[in-house]
Amino acid sequence: MSLDLDEYLRYGRQMIVPEFGGLNTQLDLKNASILIIGAGGLGCPAIAYLAGAGIGTLTIVDGDTVEASNLHRQVAHSTATVGEYKVVSAAKFVANLNPHVNVRTVTSHLTLDNVFDVIRTEDAKTTETGPWDFDVILDCSDNPATRYLVNDAAVLAKTPVVSASALKTEGQLCLLNFQGGPCYRCLFPVPPPANSVVACGDGGILGPVVGMLGVYQALEAIKIVAKIYEGPEPKQQYTPALMLFSALSFPSWRNIRMRGAKPGCAACDPTSHVTRKDIETRDYVAFCGHADAPRILPEERISAGDYDYGWHQA
Ligand SMILES: [Zn+2]
Repeated sequence: MSLDLDEYLRYGRQMIVPEFGGLNTQLDLKNASILIIGAGGLGCPAIAYLAGAGIGTLTIVDGDTVEASNLHRQVAHSTATVGEYKVVSAAKFVANLNPHVNVRTVTSHLTLDNVFDVIRTEDAKTTETGPWDFDVILDCSDNPATRYLVNDAAVLAKTPVVSASALKTEGQLCLLNFQGGPCYRCLFPVPPPANSVVACGDGGILGPVVGMLGVYQALEAIKIVAKIYEGPEPKQQYTPALMLFSALSFPSWRNIRMRGAKPGCAACDPTSHVTRKDIETRDYVAFCGHADAPRILPEERISAGDYDYGWHQA
């Protein structure tokens, strides 16, 4: 495999960065296959930078369509693609940006029904239509059930995950299932209470905040593919850490050092021997619970007649 003239022109500015590694690293990027789960606020900037950098194959999974309210942060979509599937809109964006990138799309959310059609595990055979091998998985999803599912499948597939999330003015990012470090279940063995989980649609989000995190995901994915963390003398030593971003704090970024993989973890401990069958029998949605509307107790209720009476008295 080699690069053509257009690729040399296109990637020249990153190939001359001494820490990057030149032609061989660029070829590693061209050979790489990255899965992006979610083409929203995190996925869009990640896709843009991965495609720009020359990652050979991007697989994008998302079942949503583009809405006007997405456009302030989901930079791969445009006014012209409102109403289209996000994966279709994102594939057009990549084709415009870099025709050297091969894009696969899955027009559905990642669920237990299709996860093993996308991510190759154990002895499944890979075909044109999947399941596929990946060098890195980007978790750009927006709900705990998907995060646990992605984690378990990634552990089984022995694939590192760059996980990020963002809400309002804050975000966090970590590298999971990488070089003996923790997986998502090591960090969060129990999901948060369902009523405490707020989506961007409800809580709000500043575009550049989620953009920072998505771009950072692309950077970490490129570093993994470029083998920055590998070898007897790695260019950077991998330290398990949770990176926290806050737009309203100083400093804006803080790194919290994490322990390695947790002994007894239900996903990644070698003695757990988690299999595909185990994962298929887990109910991820029930595990993470349903958010209920706040319950009104009988003594807190008031009849229409009483309410009307009270109103007139006032
Ligand atoms: Zn674990």
